[in-house]
Amino acid sequence: MIDEEFKKDCKIMRVPNDWTTPYKKREQNRRYYQKNKKSVLEQQKKYRKTLKGRKAQKKYDISKKGKERRIKYKHSPKGRKTNKKYKHSIRGKETEKKYQHSSKGKTAKIREYSKRKKRFPIELSVEDMKFIKHRDNMKCVYCGIELLTTVPKGHQQQLTFDHIVNNGATDPSNLVLCCFPCNDSKKDKNVFEWCKKQGKPVPKIILELIKNG
Ligand SMILES: [Zn+2]
Repeated sequence: MIDEEFKKDCKIMRVPNDWTTPYKKREQNRRYYQKNKKSVLEQQKKYRKTLKGRKAQKKYDISKKGKERRIKYKHSPKGRKTNKKYKHSIRGKETEKKYQHSSKGKTAKIREYSKRKKRFPIELSVEDMKFIKHRDNMKCVYCGIELLTTVPKGHQQQLTFDHIVNNGATDPSNLVLCCFPCNDSKKDKNVFEWCKKQGKPVPKIILELIKNG
């Protein structure tokens, strides 16, 4: 049997058992924070600047909880506002430029472009096709070879359409008739540079079309 008076004096015995449960501890911390808000915040600020604090912050950023919290903040009204402000700042513009030149940014751009292309399929109408064939007289604009519609794919005289300006419009103002070998070697290169390399003059039709916009 333990003496009641001894129980009162002994520090270990006096501490109630459930005082150590997490809930009670949290409650105690909260009460302490409410009472000494200023000093606690200052202490936290100091801690974040230390090496230990920075390491902890890094660990938290990588964790699942940290990522979720960041995403939540990003989509909140406050987060959107700060994001907008950062984008228009000098530092934000610089990072954007850096990202666009990185390999990650480039692949993202290509992915977006192919997505857009899928959403808005660009196809040439039959009337436009007829118009281009008539205008270019069924001949390759670059080499002058006569084109046929009855030959198999990859044949020298296969009729293809070539975009003058790559990624430009798919209509008669930006399309010319072209044979398969010419189209295959030009691909998406600049017309003027490609013609110079081939040692050919730039076709008159192309000059006219570019002039007319
Ligand atoms: Zn050709």
